[in-house]
Amino acid sequence: MPGNLSGQIKLPAYTTLTTIGVFAALFLVERLFPLRHTRAALWARLVINLAISALAFLTAMVVVRPAAMQALHWASGKSFGLLQLARVPVWVQFVVGFLLLDLSFYYWHILNHKIPLLWRFHNVHHIDPDLDVSTGFCFHFGEVLFSTLFRVAQVRLIGVPLATFAIYELVFQANTLFHHSNLRLPIRLERRLNKVLVTPRMHGIHHSQVQRETNSNFGVVFWWWDKLHRTVGLNIPQSEIEVGIAGYSAPDDNRLWHALTLPFRKQRDYWRRPDGSSPAREAAALQGKQSSLAE
Ligand SMILES: [Zn+2]
Repeated sequence: MPGNLSGQIKLPAYTTLTTIGVFAALFLVERLFPLRHTRAALWARLVINLAISALAFLTAMVVVRPAAMQALHWASGKSFGLLQLARVPVWVQFVVGFLLLDLSFYYWHILNHKIPLLWRFHNVHHIDPDLDVSTGFCFHFGEVLFSTLFRVAQVRLIGVPLATFAIYELVFQANTLFHHSNLRLPIRLERRLNKVLVTPRMHGIHHSQVQRETNSNFGVVFWWWDKLHRTVGLNIPQSEIEVGIAGYSAPDDNRLWHALTLPFRKQRDYWRRPDGSSPAREAAALQGKQSSLAE
């Protein structure tokens, strides 16, 4: 398939370039219009996040992408996968494929929170004491390795065409950076965007130290999977959110070596601070309209 071959060569280049552009733009505007107050020193955090991200990138380029590409090429030569079950127009195949990719990422994110072994690694992403665009890349390389198995299963079971995969990959990366960013958008604009996309305030709640809030808002691109599965929680004001994981919220916990070796050490109680207290929210704050994004 010569078309697919050229796609295989171009995909990493333009995805990477666009991702770097989006990262740089968001890094700039979130400094100008910050959404949440920060706790840690920016440059020290950046060095740690970029080092963890570099290892994640290396793992993605060497292991995940080749495996996903092999699965894509395997799927393209066979009538295997959900999208191959019925003959439908190309645009229907694109839309359904795009939605299924995002839905399956939503499930994968939930598994990363619910399965203790996966959570050990995903927790490294959550211990960042502040949330900004640099957190968007900051995943432990072990989590990236586990995601290889998921990626291969995802691509084969859905039977997704290469073009759909490539476009989704771009949108996935861009929106991951966007929803991790510390960019203060006008609330009315963000509420509108949040009718479709996962936005910074929505994902900010996912990075709260309150257990119930960490276990909400799992979506990556589209917000409605959380709505459909009743895992949405939007009514927490950003000024009330303490970012991070309570059990790993001491300043020394967010050091490079500590973060990289964290999954392999005895795990602490994730939801209790070093002083023994547990972050909680007034019951009243949790009631009301879950689908209305608070300021
Ligand atoms: Zn998470």
